[in-house]
Amino acid sequence: MVKLAEWRGKELFRKYGVPVPTGRVVRSAEEGERAAASGSVPLPCVVKAQVLAGGRGKGGAVRFANSPSEVHAATAAILGLEFKGEKVREVLLEGKVAIGRELYLAIALDRSLRSPVLMASAEGGVEIETVADGAVDRQPIDPFPGITGFERRRAARTLGLSGGLANELDPILRALWALFQAEDAELVEINPLAVVGDHLLALDSKVIIEDDAGFRHPEYAEIRDDRTPLEEIAREKEIAFVQLDGNIGVIANGAGLTMATLDVLMELGGKPGVFLDLGGTDDPKKVTEAFLLMAEARPNAVFLNIFGGVTRCDTVATGLVAAMRQVPEANRFPLVARIRGNNEKEGIEILRAAGVTSVPDLRASAEAVVAAAGGGR
Ligand code: GDP
Ligand code: MN
Repeated sequence: MVKLAEWRGKELFRKYGVPVPTGRVVRSAEEGERAAASGSVPLPCVVKAQVLAGGRGKGGAVRFANSPSEVHAATAAILGLEFKGEKVREVLLEGKVAIGRELYLAIALDRSLRSPVLMASAEGGVEIETVADGAVDRQPIDPFPGITGFERRRAARTLGLSGGLANELDPILRALWALFQAEDAELVEINPLAVVGDHLLALDSKVIIEDDAGFRHPEYAEIRDDRTPLEEIAREKEIAFVQLDGNIGVIANGAGLTMATLDVLMELGGKPGVFLDLGGTDDPKKVTEAFLLMAEARPNAVFLNIFGGVTRCDTVATGLVAAMRQVPEANRFPLVARIRGNNEKEGIEILRAAGVTSVPDLRASAEAVVAAAGGGR
């Protein structure tokens, strides 16, 4: 998931034709003061922390300034903040506007409906999760025609817009839809979309780019910073590997079994720390690479939970045994295995020869690994 900072989202808004205030991003109080003094940012202005978390308005990360020296002070104060655990490094300065009403407008990918959904609410300006369900209108959008006239009119009605304002909504919806599609977004949100006099203006932006489309957007490579270094290596090797806070490593195959394994460990009081989904891989070399990566994450213990379907138990076991021999002494860990399914006997035998016992019962094996990691209840 690539979540864009507000100013990056607004650059996209500008590019596609969603109206935004005049402004610029700065990285120091001096730069902010100069921008205000030179007129490149209109005064009075809004000074906004560029962090990925929401709720900045309430959290003191959005301030107002009337003069270059006030911009200096507000920018310095915000750059000194750590907002919800994230250090503020960039500040957006924008001309302040007089808000009439604050509306909510978004296009999101709804995975349960398998469709983009146009969301509109007259109760904008607060986090949408806090708005009553009944106050948010959701219209699934057929991607082929895109947002139709009917859907645009219904959105205008929901937002309480008529006349010139309703006419302004149309191009905004077209622009949002174009952005959503062309940029491979999974969410494009304007909150608030402000009524300012006779016009509409996007005062905030939230844009999330679909991760699987990352290869089409090299421009976001530098801001894709939510991966750990090991996750980055895994991605390059096309291994599904995720690091969490706990101390138990999980190697399973298939998203369903992997998630269920994490649940069982949690249930028993264990703390999964890193998990690796072998998927349908049947390539001992790939299993070895994955296992070595797991070792580098330094878990206290590892739970290998494999169901042999497409993946054969013996190939996975062969890869694992090869990998175990390559793990440096310092990175070794206790391993509890549970392998069932296709070529189970052969797999268990290969593991046994390497000193690893397969425990067939799920609960017993999970308990063993929780104990080996030194935790549980
Ligand atoms: P968020 O709280 O992180 O979502 O940050 P927003 O960008 O949505 O800003 C929070 C609030 O600040 C908005 O809902 C507005 O009420 C207020 N705000 C932002 N820009 C302006 C502005 O130009 N004028 C006024 N009066 N208020 C603003
Ligand atoms: Mn907002």
